[in-house]
Amino acid sequence: MTSNQPKSIIVIFGATGDLAKRKLFPSIYRLYRDGRLSEDFAVVGVARRPLSNDEFRENVKQSVHHFQNESEKQETFASHFYYQPFDVTDLTSYQELKSLLSSLDDSYNTEGNRIFYLAMAPDFFGTIAANLKSEELTATGGSIRLVIEKPFGHDYESAKALNDQIRHAFTEDQIYRIDHYLGKEMVQNIEVIRFANAIFEHLWNNRYIANIQITSSETLGVEDRGRYYESSGALRDMVQNHMLQMVALLAMEPPIKLTTDEIRSEKVKVLRALKPLTEDEVDDYFVRGQYGRGLIDGNEVIGYREEDSVDPESNTETFVSGKLMFENFRWAGVPFYIRTGKRMKEKSTEIVVQFKDLPMNLYFDNEDHTHPNLLVIHIQPDEGVTLHLNARKSGNGTTSRPIQLNYCNNCEDKMNTPEAYEVLLYDCMRGDSTNFTHWDEVALSWKFVDTISKAWEKNKTENFPNYESGSMGPKESDELLEKDGFHWWPISITR
Ligand code: NAP
Repeated sequence: MTSNQPKSIIVIFGATGDLAKRKLFPSIYRLYRDGRLSEDFAVVGVARRPLSNDEFRENVKQSVHHFQNESEKQETFASHFYYQPFDVTDLTSYQELKSLLSSLDDSYNTEGNRIFYLAMAPDFFGTIAANLKSEELTATGGSIRLVIEKPFGHDYESAKALNDQIRHAFTEDQIYRIDHYLGKEMVQNIEVIRFANAIFEHLWNNRYIANIQITSSETLGVEDRGRYYESSGALRDMVQNHMLQMVALLAMEPPIKLTTDEIRSEKVKVLRALKPLTEDEVDDYFVRGQYGRGLIDGNEVIGYREEDSVDPESNTETFVSGKLMFENFRWAGVPFYIRTGKRMKEKSTEIVVQFKDLPMNLYFDNEDHTHPNLLVIHIQPDEGVTLHLNARKSGNGTTSRPIQLNYCNNCEDKMNTPEAYEVLLYDCMRGDSTNFTHWDEVALSWKFVDTISKAWEKNKTENFPNYESGSMGPKESDELLEKDGFHWWPISITR
Protein backbone atom coordinates (compact mmCIF):
# COMPACT_ATOMS: atom_id res chain seq x y z
CA MET A 1 0.00 0.00 0.00
CA THR A 2 1.51 3.32 -0.96
CA SER A 3 -1.27 5.82 -0.32
CA ASN A 4 -0.07 8.93 1.47
CA GLN A 5 -3.18 8.90 3.60
CA PRO A 6 -3.28 5.30 4.72
CA LYS A 7 -6.49 3.80 6.03
CA SER A 8 -6.18 1.46 8.96
CA ILE A 9 -7.39 0.40 12.36
CA ILE A 10 -4.59 0.49 14.92
CA VAL A 11 -5.14 -1.84 17.86
CA ILE A 12 -2.93 -0.89 20.79
CA PHE A 13 -2.36 -3.66 23.32
CA GLY A 14 -1.40 -1.86 26.53
CA ALA A 15 -3.32 1.32 25.71
CA THR A 16 -3.42 2.47 29.34
CA GLY A 17 0.37 2.27 29.65
CA ASP A 18 3.18 4.79 29.62
CA LEU A 19 4.29 4.25 26.04
CA ALA A 20 0.79 4.73 24.65
CA LYS A 21 0.26 7.90 26.63
CA ARG A 22 3.65 9.54 26.10
CA LYS A 23 4.49 8.45 22.58
CA LEU A 24 1.78 6.70 20.61
CA PHE A 25 -1.24 8.98 21.09
CA PRO A 26 0.75 12.20 20.47
CA SER A 27 2.40 10.66 17.40
CA ILE A 28 -0.90 9.57 15.86
CA TYR A 29 -2.28 13.01 16.67
CA ARG A 30 0.53 14.79 14.85
CA LEU A 31 -0.04 12.61 11.80
CA TYR A 32 -3.72 13.48 11.94
CA ARG A 33 -3.40 17.24 12.43
CA ASP A 34 -0.74 17.45 9.71
CA GLY A 35 -3.14 15.83 7.26
CA ARG A 36 -1.17 12.64 6.82
CA LEU A 37 -4.10 10.60 8.09
CA SER A 38 -7.51 11.03 6.57
CA GLU A 39 -10.68 10.56 8.60
CA ASP A 40 -10.52 6.87 7.63
CA PHE A 41 -8.79 5.53 10.68
CA ALA A 42 -9.70 4.24 14.11
CA VAL A 43 -7.67 3.31 17.15
CA VAL A 44 -8.80 0.58 19.50
CA GLY A 45 -7.13 0.50 22.88
CA VAL A 46 -7.09 -2.69 24.91
CA ALA A 47 -5.83 -3.36 28.44
CA ARG A 48 -7.18 -4.99 31.58
CA ARG A 49 -8.70 -2.05 33.42
CA PRO A 50 -12.37 -1.36 32.78
CA LEU A 51 -12.64 1.97 30.96
CA SER A 52 -15.51 3.30 28.88
CA ASN A 53 -14.88 4.79 25.44
CA ASP A 54 -15.45 8.23 26.96
CA GLU A 55 -12.92 7.71 29.73
CA PHE A 56 -10.38 6.42 27.24
CA ARG A 57 -10.98 9.40 24.95
CA GLU A 58 -10.39 11.70 27.92
CA ASN A 59 -6.99 10.01 28.46
CA VAL A 60 -6.18 10.48 24.80
CA LYS A 61 -7.11 14.18 24.90
CA GLN A 62 -5.01 14.62 28.04
CA SER A 63 -1.97 13.17 26.29
CA VAL A 64 -2.23 15.64 23.39
CA HIS A 65 -3.48 18.72 25.17
CA HIS A 66 0.00 20.30 25.19
CA PHE A 67 -0.64 21.05 21.51
CA GLN A 68 -2.33 24.31 22.34
CA ASN A 69 -5.37 25.99 20.79
CA GLU A 70 -6.42 22.86 18.96
CA SER A 71 -9.18 21.61 21.23
CA GLU A 72 -11.71 21.23 18.44
CA LYS A 73 -9.26 19.15 16.39
CA GLN A 74 -8.46 17.11 19.48
CA GLU A 75 -12.13 16.43 20.09
CA THR A 76 -12.60 15.05 16.57
CA PHE A 77 -9.34 13.14 16.86
CA ALA A 78 -10.39 11.48 20.13
CA SER A 79 -13.72 10.42 18.58
CA HIS A 80 -11.72 7.93 16.46
CA PHE A 81 -10.66 6.08 19.65
CA TYR A 82 -12.42 3.06 21.18
CA TYR A 83 -11.60 1.00 24.21
CA GLN A 84 -12.11 -2.62 25.10
CA PRO A 85 -11.25 -4.20 28.46
CA PHE A 86 -9.16 -7.22 27.56
CA ASP A 87 -7.61 -10.34 28.99
CA VAL A 88 -4.85 -11.47 26.67
CA THR A 89 -5.23 -15.12 27.66
CA ASP A 90 -9.01 -15.29 27.27
CA LEU A 91 -10.22 -16.14 23.76
CA THR A 92 -13.57 -14.46 24.38
CA SER A 93 -11.73 -11.12 24.51
CA TYR A 94 -10.42 -11.76 21.00
CA GLN A 95 -13.89 -12.64 19.71
CA GLU A 96 -15.30 -9.42 21.12
CA LEU A 97 -12.42 -7.46 19.63
CA LYS A 98 -13.00 -9.14 16.29
CA SER A 99 -16.59 -8.01 16.10
CA LEU A 100 -15.68 -4.47 17.20
CA LEU A 101 -13.04 -4.30 14.47
CA SER A 102 -15.41 -5.47 11.75
CA SER A 103 -18.00 -2.90 12.70
CA LEU A 104 -15.31 -0.18 12.73
CA ASP A 105 -14.16 -1.35 9.31
CA ASP A 106 -17.60 -0.40 8.01
CA SER A 107 -17.77 2.92 9.85
CA TYR A 108 -14.26 4.06 8.89
CA ASN A 109 -13.88 2.45 5.52
CA THR A 110 -10.63 0.78 6.60
CA GLU A 111 -10.93 -2.24 4.27
CA GLY A 112 -9.69 -4.84 6.76
CA ASN A 113 -6.32 -3.11 7.24
CA ARG A 114 -5.08 -3.72 10.76
CA ILE A 115 -2.03 -2.77 12.76
CA PHE A 116 -1.68 -4.69 15.99
CA TYR A 117 0.69 -2.70 18.17
CA LEU A 118 2.03 -4.65 21.15
CA ALA A 119 2.85 -1.99 23.74
CA MET A 120 2.97 -4.25 26.75
CA ALA A 121 5.29 -6.64 28.54
CA PRO A 122 7.07 -8.94 26.06
CA ASP A 123 5.98 -12.07 27.97
CA PHE A 124 2.60 -11.61 26.27
CA PHE A 125 3.81 -11.12 22.69
CA GLY A 126 3.75 -14.81 21.70
CA THR A 127 0.33 -15.48 23.26
CA ILE A 128 -1.25 -12.43 21.65
CA ALA A 129 0.18 -13.26 18.22
CA ALA A 130 -1.05 -16.86 18.44
CA ASN A 131 -4.52 -15.86 19.63
CA LEU A 132 -4.92 -13.18 16.97
CA LYS A 133 -4.31 -15.86 14.38
CA SER A 134 -6.37 -18.66 15.96
CA GLU A 135 -9.35 -16.34 16.45
CA GLU A 136 -9.00 -15.16 12.85
CA LEU A 137 -8.44 -11.49 13.56
CA THR A 138 -5.78 -11.59 10.89
CA ALA A 139 -8.02 -13.08 8.19
CA THR A 140 -9.55 -9.89 6.86
CA GLY A 141 -8.32 -9.67 3.29
CA GLY A 142 -6.66 -6.34 4.14
CA SER A 143 -3.07 -5.59 5.07
CA ILE A 144 -2.10 -7.02 8.46
CA ARG A 145 0.86 -5.79 10.47
CA LEU A 146 2.23 -6.60 13.88
CA VAL A 147 4.34 -3.98 15.64
CA ILE A 148 6.56 -5.23 18.43
CA GLU A 149 8.30 -3.13 21.05
CA LYS A 150 11.64 -3.88 22.57
CA PRO A 151 12.97 -5.89 24.24
CA PHE A 152 12.86 -8.59 21.57
CA GLY A 153 14.10 -11.44 23.75
CA HIS A 154 16.71 -11.50 26.48
CA ASP A 155 19.37 -13.33 24.51
CA TYR A 156 19.57 -15.16 21.18
CA GLU A 157 17.77 -18.29 22.42
CA SER A 158 14.81 -16.42 23.92
CA ALA A 159 14.61 -14.08 20.93
CA LYS A 160 14.54 -17.08 18.61
CA ALA A 161 11.84 -18.80 20.67
CA LEU A 162 9.76 -15.59 20.56
CA ASN A 163 10.35 -15.17 16.87
CA ASP A 164 9.33 -18.77 16.14
CA GLN A 165 6.15 -18.25 18.12
CA ILE A 166 5.27 -15.05 16.31
CA ARG A 167 6.17 -16.48 12.93
CA HIS A 168 3.48 -19.18 13.39
CA ALA A 169 0.94 -16.38 13.13
CA PHE A 170 2.62 -13.66 11.05
CA THR A 171 4.98 -13.67 8.09
CA GLU A 172 8.31 -11.84 8.37
CA ASP A 173 7.07 -9.03 6.15
CA GLN A 174 4.07 -8.49 8.43
CA ILE A 175 6.31 -8.06 11.50
CA TYR A 176 7.56 -4.56 12.36
CA ARG A 177 10.14 -4.73 15.16
CA ILE A 178 10.47 -1.20 16.45
CA ASP A 179 13.85 0.31 17.21
CA HIS A 180 12.87 3.92 17.73
CA TYR A 181 16.42 5.12 17.05
CA LEU A 182 15.78 4.18 13.42
CA GLY A 183 12.98 6.76 13.33
CA LYS A 184 15.23 9.60 14.44
CA GLU A 185 15.81 12.25 11.84
CA MET A 186 19.60 12.24 12.05
CA VAL A 187 19.89 8.46 12.21
CA GLN A 188 17.94 8.38 8.96
CA ASN A 189 20.35 11.03 7.72
CA ILE A 190 23.42 8.80 8.17
CA GLU A 191 22.79 7.08 4.85
CA VAL A 192 22.13 10.38 3.07
CA ILE A 193 25.26 12.04 4.46
CA ARG A 194 27.30 9.03 3.39
CA PHE A 195 25.79 8.14 0.06
CA ALA A 196 24.82 11.55 -1.30
CA ASN A 197 28.16 13.29 -0.69
CA ALA A 198 31.23 12.50 -2.74
CA ILE A 199 33.45 14.24 -0.20
CA PHE A 200 32.56 11.63 2.40
CA GLU A 201 31.83 8.39 0.63
CA HIS A 202 35.22 8.29 -1.09
CA LEU A 203 36.94 8.69 2.28
CA TRP A 204 34.63 6.35 4.16
CA ASN A 205 37.06 3.50 4.74
CA ASN A 206 40.16 2.36 6.58
CA ARG A 207 42.52 4.40 4.42
CA TYR A 208 41.16 7.70 5.66
CA ILE A 209 39.22 7.09 8.86
CA ALA A 210 41.11 6.58 12.12
CA ASN A 211 38.13 5.60 14.27
CA ILE A 212 34.42 6.16 14.75
CA GLN A 213 32.89 6.95 18.13
CA ILE A 214 29.22 6.65 19.05
CA THR A 215 28.03 7.97 22.38
CA SER A 216 24.50 7.76 23.73
CA SER A 217 24.46 9.20 27.23
CA GLU A 218 21.60 9.95 29.58
CA THR A 219 21.52 12.04 32.73
CA LEU A 220 18.52 10.15 34.10
CA GLY A 221 18.93 7.10 36.31
CA VAL A 222 16.61 4.10 36.13
CA GLU A 223 13.66 6.10 37.47
CA ASP A 224 10.82 3.68 38.27
CA ARG A 225 12.06 0.98 35.90
CA GLY A 226 14.45 -0.66 38.39
CA ARG A 227 12.83 -4.07 38.12
CA TYR A 228 13.01 -4.15 34.33
CA TYR A 229 16.53 -2.75 34.32
CA GLU A 230 17.84 -5.33 36.80
CA SER A 231 17.05 -8.06 34.30
CA SER A 232 18.29 -6.07 31.34
CA GLY A 233 21.24 -3.75 31.96
CA ALA A 234 22.74 -1.32 29.48
CA LEU A 235 24.12 -4.03 27.21
CA ARG A 236 20.72 -5.54 26.45
CA ASP A 237 18.77 -2.30 26.76
CA MET A 238 20.94 -0.18 24.45
CA VAL A 239 23.82 -2.03 22.78
CA GLN A 240 22.03 -5.03 21.27
CA ASN A 241 19.56 -2.80 19.45
CA HIS A 242 20.13 0.98 19.18
CA MET A 243 23.93 1.08 19.26
CA LEU A 244 24.45 -1.84 16.88
CA GLN A 245 21.85 -0.42 14.50
CA MET A 246 23.76 2.87 14.32
CA VAL A 247 27.02 0.97 13.82
CA ALA A 248 25.45 -1.00 10.97
CA LEU A 249 24.27 2.17 9.21
CA LEU A 250 27.72 3.72 9.52
CA ALA A 251 29.59 0.65 8.35
CA MET A 252 27.35 -0.92 5.68
CA GLU A 253 28.10 -0.83 1.96
CA PRO A 254 25.91 1.39 -0.25
CA PRO A 255 22.77 -0.51 -1.19
CA ILE A 256 22.14 -1.15 -4.89
CA LYS A 257 18.79 0.59 -4.56
CA LEU A 258 16.93 2.29 -1.74
CA THR A 259 14.54 -0.58 -1.25
CA THR A 260 13.81 -2.24 2.07
CA ASP A 261 15.34 -5.55 1.01
CA GLU A 262 18.52 -4.03 -0.40
CA ILE A 263 19.16 -1.84 2.64
CA ARG A 264 18.44 -4.63 5.08
CA SER A 265 20.64 -7.01 3.18
CA GLU A 266 23.60 -4.59 3.45
CA LYS A 267 22.99 -4.16 7.16
CA VAL A 268 22.89 -7.91 7.66
CA LYS A 269 26.05 -8.32 5.62
CA VAL A 270 28.03 -5.84 7.67
CA LEU A 271 26.77 -7.30 10.96
CA ARG A 272 28.06 -10.65 9.71
CA ALA A 273 31.48 -9.02 9.28
CA LEU A 274 31.61 -7.93 12.91
CA LYS A 275 34.62 -9.61 14.51
CA PRO A 276 33.15 -12.07 17.03
CA LEU A 277 34.71 -12.09 20.49
CA THR A 278 35.55 -15.06 22.63
CA GLU A 279 34.56 -14.85 26.27
CA ASP A 280 38.26 -14.53 27.17
CA GLU A 281 38.62 -11.47 24.94
CA VAL A 282 35.64 -9.58 26.33
CA ASP A 283 37.61 -7.62 28.93
CA ASP A 284 40.01 -6.38 26.25
CA TYR A 285 37.17 -4.98 24.17
CA PHE A 286 34.36 -4.07 26.56
CA VAL A 287 34.04 -2.10 29.80
CA ARG A 288 31.04 -2.19 32.13
CA GLY A 289 30.09 0.38 34.70
CA GLN A 290 27.51 1.12 37.34
CA TYR A 291 26.72 4.57 38.68
CA GLY A 292 27.28 5.55 42.27
CA ARG A 293 26.16 8.75 43.93
CA GLY A 294 27.08 12.06 42.42
CA LEU A 295 25.85 15.38 41.16
CA ILE A 296 23.52 15.95 38.23
CA ASP A 297 22.91 19.60 37.41
CA GLY A 298 24.26 20.50 40.83
CA ASN A 299 21.82 18.20 42.65
CA GLU A 300 22.92 15.17 44.64
CA VAL A 301 21.58 11.89 43.30
CA ILE A 302 21.65 8.37 44.70
CA GLY A 303 23.62 5.44 43.32
CA TYR A 304 22.07 2.66 41.26
CA ARG A 305 22.16 0.16 44.13
CA GLU A 306 20.00 2.51 46.22
CA GLU A 307 17.27 2.85 43.57
CA ASP A 308 13.81 1.29 44.04
CA SER A 309 13.51 -2.40 43.12
CA VAL A 310 17.29 -2.71 42.70
CA ASP A 311 19.35 -5.29 44.58
CA PRO A 312 21.66 -3.42 47.02
CA GLU A 313 24.47 -5.67 45.74
CA SER A 314 23.40 -5.56 42.12
CA ASN A 315 25.89 -6.52 39.45
CA THR A 316 23.81 -4.95 36.67
CA GLU A 317 25.70 -2.57 34.40
CA THR A 318 24.28 0.90 33.77
CA PHE A 319 27.15 1.80 31.45
CA VAL A 320 28.89 0.00 28.61
CA SER A 321 31.68 1.04 26.36
CA GLY A 322 33.26 -1.16 23.79
CA LYS A 323 35.42 -1.48 20.75
CA LEU A 324 34.00 -3.20 17.68
CA MET A 325 36.12 -4.33 14.75
CA PHE A 326 34.96 -5.43 11.32
CA GLU A 327 36.61 -8.13 9.31
CA ASN A 328 36.07 -6.78 5.83
CA PHE A 329 38.02 -4.81 3.22
CA ARG A 330 36.47 -1.45 4.02
CA TRP A 331 36.96 -1.47 7.78
CA ALA A 332 39.78 -3.85 8.71
CA GLY A 333 41.85 -2.09 11.38
CA VAL A 334 39.37 0.73 12.17
CA PRO A 335 37.90 0.66 15.67
CA PHE A 336 34.26 1.61 16.18
CA TYR A 337 33.97 2.71 19.79
CA ILE A 338 30.56 2.75 21.41
CA ARG A 339 29.58 4.15 24.78
CA THR A 340 26.22 4.36 26.52
CA GLY A 341 25.12 4.90 30.08
CA LYS A 342 22.77 6.35 32.61
CA ARG A 343 23.44 9.21 35.03
CA MET A 344 26.14 10.61 32.83
CA LYS A 345 27.26 14.18 32.56
CA GLU A 346 25.08 15.12 29.61
CA LYS A 347 22.12 13.81 27.69
CA SER A 348 23.35 13.39 24.18
CA THR A 349 23.58 10.99 21.29
CA GLU A 350 26.25 11.71 18.75
CA ILE A 351 28.62 10.12 16.30
CA VAL A 352 32.18 11.35 15.75
CA VAL A 353 34.06 10.21 12.67
CA GLN A 354 37.74 10.95 13.18
CA PHE A 355 39.78 11.16 9.98
CA LYS A 356 43.40 10.08 9.87
CA ASP A 357 46.13 12.69 10.20
CA LEU A 358 47.93 13.91 7.10
CA PRO A 359 51.26 12.19 6.41
CA MET A 360 53.06 15.39 7.38
CA ASN A 361 51.80 18.47 9.17
CA LEU A 362 53.03 21.87 8.07
CA TYR A 363 50.66 23.90 10.19
CA PHE A 364 50.28 23.76 13.94
CA ASP A 365 48.16 25.85 16.26
CA ASN A 366 49.59 28.24 18.85
CA GLU A 367 50.31 25.34 21.19
CA ASP A 368 52.02 23.16 18.59
CA HIS A 369 48.99 20.92 18.21
CA THR A 370 47.40 19.64 15.07
CA HIS A 371 43.70 18.93 14.91
CA PRO A 372 42.27 15.95 13.09
CA ASN A 373 39.28 16.51 10.87
CA LEU A 374 36.11 15.34 12.53
CA LEU A 375 32.66 14.81 11.14
CA VAL A 376 30.17 14.95 13.98
CA ILE A 377 26.59 13.78 13.50
CA HIS A 378 24.38 15.09 16.30
CA ILE A 379 21.45 12.76 16.80
CA GLN A 380 19.83 14.26 19.93
CA PRO A 381 18.97 16.61 21.53
CA ASP A 382 20.64 18.74 18.84
CA GLU A 383 20.13 17.45 15.34
CA GLY A 384 22.74 18.37 12.82
CA VAL A 385 26.20 17.93 11.42
CA THR A 386 29.46 19.66 12.28
CA LEU A 387 32.57 19.37 10.19
CA HIS A 388 35.82 20.26 11.94
CA LEU A 389 38.45 21.65 9.60
CA ASN A 390 41.65 23.65 9.97
CA ALA A 391 42.03 27.15 8.58
CA ARG A 392 44.68 29.83 8.54
CA LYS A 393 45.00 31.90 11.65
CA SER A 394 44.70 35.53 10.57
CA GLY A 395 47.94 37.46 10.61
CA ASN A 396 50.14 34.41 10.90
CA GLY A 397 50.95 32.44 7.77
CA THR A 398 52.13 29.23 9.42
CA THR A 399 49.66 28.86 12.24
CA SER A 400 46.34 27.13 11.80
CA ARG A 401 43.25 27.14 13.92
CA PRO A 402 40.39 24.66 14.08
CA ILE A 403 37.12 25.90 12.61
CA GLN A 404 33.70 24.31 12.44
CA LEU A 405 31.11 24.20 9.71
CA ASN A 406 27.73 23.69 11.29
CA TYR A 407 24.41 22.55 10.00
CA CYS A 408 21.61 22.43 12.53
CA ASN A 409 18.51 20.61 11.50
CA ASN A 410 16.27 21.53 14.40
CA CYS A 411 17.55 24.93 15.50
CA GLU A 412 14.94 27.08 13.88
CA ASP A 413 11.85 25.25 14.94
CA LYS A 414 12.31 22.20 17.12
CA MET A 415 8.59 21.42 16.89
CA ASN A 416 8.90 20.76 13.18
CA THR A 417 11.11 17.73 13.53
CA PRO A 418 8.85 14.70 13.61
CA GLU A 419 9.12 12.41 16.61
CA ALA A 420 10.67 9.01 15.94
CA TYR A 421 7.43 7.21 16.79
CA GLU A 422 5.48 9.41 14.42
CA VAL A 423 7.85 8.60 11.56
CA LEU A 424 7.78 4.89 12.28
CA LEU A 425 4.03 4.64 12.76
CA TYR A 426 3.50 6.38 9.47
CA ASP A 427 6.01 4.08 7.74
CA CYS A 428 4.21 1.09 9.20
CA MET A 429 0.80 2.35 8.07
CA ARG A 430 2.19 2.73 4.56
CA GLY A 431 3.78 -0.71 4.65
CA ASP A 432 7.39 0.51 4.58
CA SER A 433 9.48 -1.67 6.89
CA THR A 434 12.90 -0.27 5.94
CA ASN A 435 13.41 1.37 9.30
CA PHE A 436 12.36 -1.64 11.35
CA THR A 437 14.70 -4.46 12.27
CA HIS A 438 14.62 -7.70 10.35
CA TRP A 439 14.94 -10.93 12.29
CA ASP A 440 18.38 -11.60 10.75
CA GLU A 441 19.68 -8.33 12.23
CA VAL A 442 18.18 -9.15 15.63
CA ALA A 443 19.72 -12.64 15.57
CA LEU A 444 23.21 -11.43 14.64
CA SER A 445 23.12 -8.65 17.25
CA TRP A 446 22.09 -11.05 20.00
CA LYS A 447 24.78 -13.55 19.07
CA PHE A 448 27.41 -10.82 19.34
CA VAL A 449 26.08 -9.47 22.63
CA ASP A 450 25.49 -12.90 24.22
CA THR A 451 29.24 -13.60 24.42
CA ILE A 452 29.72 -10.39 26.39
CA SER A 453 26.84 -11.00 28.77
CA LYS A 454 27.94 -14.61 29.34
CA ALA A 455 31.48 -13.50 30.16
CA TRP A 456 30.18 -10.84 32.53
CA GLU A 457 27.75 -13.19 34.23
CA LYS A 458 30.52 -15.74 34.86
CA ASN A 459 32.95 -13.12 35.99
CA LYS A 460 31.09 -10.83 38.38
CA THR A 461 32.85 -7.56 38.97
CA GLU A 462 33.93 -6.53 42.45
CA ASN A 463 34.29 -2.83 41.74
CA PHE A 464 30.69 -1.62 41.25
CA PRO A 465 29.78 1.21 41.56
CA ASN A 466 32.71 2.40 39.48
CA TYR A 467 31.61 5.76 38.14
CA GLU A 468 30.16 8.80 39.77
CA SER A 469 26.81 10.11 38.65
CA GLY A 470 27.47 13.16 36.52
CA SER A 471 30.69 11.78 34.99
CA MET A 472 31.33 10.25 31.57
CA GLY A 473 31.73 6.71 32.94
CA PRO A 474 34.54 4.68 34.52
CA LYS A 475 38.21 5.43 33.84
CA GLU A 476 38.58 2.03 32.13
CA SER A 477 36.39 3.41 29.36
CA ASP A 478 38.96 6.15 28.71
CA GLU A 479 41.77 3.60 28.89
CA LEU A 480 40.06 1.49 26.24
CA LEU A 481 40.80 4.22 23.69
CA GLU A 482 44.08 5.39 25.19
CA LYS A 483 45.67 2.02 24.57
CA ASP A 484 44.94 2.53 20.85
CA GLY A 485 46.34 6.08 20.95
CA PHE A 486 42.89 7.74 20.85
CA HIS A 487 40.57 9.48 23.28
CA TRP A 488 36.84 10.12 23.51
CA TRP A 489 36.00 13.44 21.92
CA PRO A 490 34.24 15.37 24.65
CA ILE A 491 30.68 16.25 23.79
CA SER A 492 31.26 19.90 24.70
CA ILE A 493 33.99 20.41 22.09
CA THR A 494 32.23 18.61 19.31
CA ARG A 495 29.28 21.06 19.27
P1 NAP B 1 3.34 -0.03 31.16
O1 NAP B 1 3.21 1.41 31.43
O2 NAP B 1 3.62 -0.97 32.29
O3 NAP B 1 2.00 -0.50 30.45
C1 NAP B 1 1.66 -1.85 30.28
C2 NAP B 1 0.29 -1.95 29.62
O4 NAP B 1 -0.06 -3.33 29.49
C3 NAP B 1 -0.81 -1.28 30.41
O5 NAP B 1 -1.71 -0.69 29.50
C4 NAP B 1 -1.46 -2.44 31.12
O6 NAP B 1 -2.77 -2.05 31.38
C5 NAP B 1 -1.37 -3.52 30.04
N1 NAP B 1 -1.42 -4.90 30.57
C6 NAP B 1 -0.61 -5.45 31.49
N2 NAP B 1 -0.96 -6.74 31.69
C7 NAP B 1 -2.00 -7.00 30.86
C8 NAP B 1 -2.80 -8.16 30.60
N3 NAP B 1 -2.58 -9.31 31.22
N4 NAP B 1 -3.77 -8.06 29.64
C9 NAP B 1 -3.99 -6.88 29.00
N5 NAP B 1 -3.27 -5.76 29.23
C10 NAP B 1 -2.30 -5.81 30.14
O7 NAP B 1 4.46 -0.33 30.07
P2 NAP B 1 5.03 0.67 28.95
O8 NAP B 1 6.10 1.49 29.56
O9 NAP B 1 3.91 1.35 28.27
O10 NAP B 1 5.77 -0.35 27.96
C11 NAP B 1 5.08 -1.20 27.08
C12 NAP B 1 6.08 -1.93 26.19
O11 NAP B 1 6.83 -0.98 25.48
C13 NAP B 1 7.11 -2.77 26.95
O12 NAP B 1 7.44 -3.86 26.14
C14 NAP B 1 8.31 -1.83 27.07
O13 NAP B 1 9.52 -2.53 27.19
C15 NAP B 1 8.22 -1.14 25.72
N6 NAP B 1 8.86 0.17 25.69
C16 NAP B 1 8.39 1.20 26.46
C17 NAP B 1 8.99 2.44 26.38
C18 NAP B 1 8.48 3.61 27.17
O14 NAP B 1 8.97 4.73 26.95
N7 NAP B 1 7.53 3.43 28.08
C19 NAP B 1 10.07 2.64 25.52
C20 NAP B 1 10.53 1.58 24.74
C21 NAP B 1 9.90 0.36 24.83
P3 NAP B 1 -3.70 -2.61 32.54
O15 NAP B 1 -2.93 -2.49 33.80
O16 NAP B 1 -4.93 -1.75 32.46
O17 NAP B 1 -3.95 -3.99 32.13
